[in-house]
Amino acid sequence: MEDRQKPVMEARQISYREAYDVNWSLHNRINSNLMPDSLGSGNIAYPFVHTFYALVSPQKYGKTHPEYFSEVDGKRLIKETNTGGQLCLTNPEVVKIATATVFEWIKTHPEASVYTVDQNDGEGHCECTNCKKIDDQEGSYSGTLIHFVNQIADSVAKVYPEVKLQTLAYAYTEIPPKNIRPAKNVIIRLCHYDYCSAHPLGQCDNHKVYVERLDQWSKIASQVTIWDYYTNFERYLLPFPNFETLKHDVKFYADRKAIGLFPEGNNVSDNGGGEFSELRAWIFSQLLWNPERDAQALIDEFVQNVYGPAAPYVSEYIKMMHEQVKPKSAYFSIWTDPEDVNYLGLETIQKADSLFSMAKAIAKKDTALYKRVELAYLPVLYTRLYFYATGGTAYLSREQMPEALAAFKRILAANSITSMGVVELEPGNIPNFIKSVESSDRFIKDWWLTGPFDNENRKGFDTIYAPEKGFDSTAVFTGKNSIQTKWTRYNSNESGYIDLAKMFNPKKNVVSYAYRKFESPVARKMQFGVGSNDGVKVWVNGKLELSRPVLRAAKPNDDVITVAVKKGANTILVKVDQLGNKWGFYFTERN
Ligand SMILES: [Zn+2]
Ligand SMILES: [Zn+2]
Repeated sequence: MEDRQKPVMEARQISYREAYDVNWSLHNRINSNLMPDSLGSGNIAYPFVHTFYALVSPQKYGKTHPEYFSEVDGKRLIKETNTGGQLCLTNPEVVKIATATVFEWIKTHPEASVYTVDQNDGEGHCECTNCKKIDDQEGSYSGTLIHFVNQIADSVAKVYPEVKLQTLAYAYTEIPPKNIRPAKNVIIRLCHYDYCSAHPLGQCDNHKVYVERLDQWSKIASQVTIWDYYTNFERYLLPFPNFETLKHDVKFYADRKAIGLFPEGNNVSDNGGGEFSELRAWIFSQLLWNPERDAQALIDEFVQNVYGPAAPYVSEYIKMMHEQVKPKSAYFSIWTDPEDVNYLGLETIQKADSLFSMAKAIAKKDTALYKRVELAYLPVLYTRLYFYATGGTAYLSREQMPEALAAFKRILAANSITSMGVVELEPGNIPNFIKSVESSDRFIKDWWLTGPFDNENRKGFDTIYAPEKGFDSTAVFTGKNSIQTKWTRYNSNESGYIDLAKMFNPKKNVVSYAYRKFESPVARKMQFGVGSNDGVKVWVNGKLELSRPVLRAAKPNDDVITVAVKKGANTILVKVDQLGNKWGFYFTERN
């Protein structure tokens, strides 16, 4: 028999490890950059992305022609790598050199069907008079970009009418231009960067602006292809309950005539892991071919066949995690910290852990199945270790830690997981993470807290409010906006992070205090670690030992102080101020 099908999405590339395997890709009809033309790829973009410096080399022209590169704050910006610096797109020489490079690519890479002329990663667009003039007229930095790409596209069309160029609508070029239109042979690759990952496109206000831009680009460009993001890029191993978006987005894009979707997942090609990365890769491959397929049925089919007798527990886990993020108020995105998502609460993780205990028990006799179940469990284990490392002993006790860490290492090794995130040093680095678990400091989590007091223009940081004058558990203070406040007991074993933003209102331009008493059997030197968001002061026995009027994200042990403590009763008073976003602190005892 002969079976002919036409995929709905023309460009089908996926970045999960499974899809970096040519055989897997062939079987699942992915036509990525990796597929040799001999296997019928037909959709190779050359080079892959961020090509400005490949078009006009900073090594070749940086010294002699700095004017080819983008002007930022009056200076020409020339970077070592293709991040953070761009080209001066209105310089005629730049157009000439870039055009010659594209012609060279067409000759040396005949296997490609699309040639990429797009901005470098990061920001750094050109602000020179000529570039600024066009961008002002067009109401977007995409103005100069399209103006530039069109000139190359016109030259290419005269010689190679079938060849297409591809450019990005990303970061500073996401807004479409007002007047200029991409040439017929230019594909716009629009990126859906850092929006809500909990809810599908069109079903959440967080996507509204993006969807409007998508519709505008679709109107003015002859072809639009999409780059979207489907993992936590700092922490591939973190549970990431975004199956609702994964289920609906492909069809959403297909309905708007997008010619392709590149779902960016765990994009370290030789690296395994990432929550359900095998499932994600497979579902995407099926939906890119035919977005009309029932995505939930595909998920069920995958879970049933891959986890066999353990499937009901895995399904239950998936369902439970996604229930948490159903409410409209739930929000998480591709860079959200574990502390800031609503679905990693202690109770949820404990339930998840027991579901996987049952799944593992059932899979025990089947080595291959057990390995798959353990890999699915890895994100839950990672979460427990993560919170343990920052003082959350309710997630994992000191007694349980060694065994949990050993299991973690074993699962990583068994699945060739070499990186936990795109940010290589922290937090993607595995040895660093293991070290943070092993050397987890002793977090001090029981405090008396009071606040908030005024801190407009940061005046509160040095204002001596009543709590600094001595501790009285029954005292009543007048705080910001005349709010009456008292000392309140606080203690938590869920995290070493004392999240003041969760405790106090108002939580903007304020300060609050934390106080505790402790006994020392002898007079000695003690070392404490302090991490704060934002500035912090620490008094020990009434003596100011640390004063840091900083603006920072809190990390354990940002500052380390050594202080003399007395035999018997001692006191610690901490003052933390808030200037923007988060507000809280870590306090550790280090010796
Ligand atoms: Zn310029
Ligand atoms: Zn949302």
